[in-house]
Amino acid sequence: MQCIKDSIKNINIVIGCDIGCTYCYARMNNARFHTTDDFNIPIFFENKLKMLDNKKHTAYLLTGQSDLSGWKQEWLDKVYEKMKENQDTQYIFLTKRPDKIKLTDTPDNGWFGVTVTSSKEKGKIDILRKNIKAKHYHITFEPLFDDVGKLDLTDISWVVIGTETGNRKNKAVSKKEWIYNIYNQAKEKNIPVFMKEDLLGILNEDEMIQEFPKEFGE
Ligand code: SF4
Repeated sequence: MQCIKDSIKNINIVIGCDIGCTYCYARMNNARFHTTDDFNIPIFFENKLKMLDNKKHTAYLLTGQSDLSGWKQEWLDKVYEKMKENQDTQYIFLTKRPDKIKLTDTPDNGWFGVTVTSSKEKGKIDILRKNIKAKHYHITFEPLFDDVGKLDLTDISWVVIGTETGNRKNKAVSKKEWIYNIYNQAKEKNIPVFMKEDLLGILNEDEMIQEFPKEFGE
């Protein structure tokens, strides 16, 4: 997931992931800039912990180059300490594998999300709520391979919708009706929806909705 607005900053405190998504831009970046020797092995950059004190931004995405399921508990504990010292700042985590995570005591300024890319994956939303006890949950629908159908958005505080970027062969392109299916269900529950810039071209400019939770400062 990339940085989606100026007040949300990426801090890649962990780099690496072994999930192996074909569309992974983080793996491509790592190959290009050689940040770590092996992207399949997540590495914790402890020296970046102090960046979590930065008050310039209201929210930080901490999993832009990793998946929360690959984090060790000791890394999370160190990050939690910083989160507790910075209660007015929001910290965003994302996973594709909520089934591999069990978290019972999370700071209130933590936003725990799941990526859903198809109708087959929507059961992950329930697993997220079951396996992670958190004040805030969010869902990212990106990329989209089909219409996700009816969703259970109970306790979801934010929805992000995107499409695959880049020029990969067989790239997944989100369809307008799939996007609106998600959007309409979120609106029924008054959940803010953020449509990523990449959707321009699929949607017209005046159709783009870019909303944030009030905790993010807007
Ligand atoms: S989960 Fe994210 S970081 Fe991991 S391979 Fe997939 S896209 Fe890359």
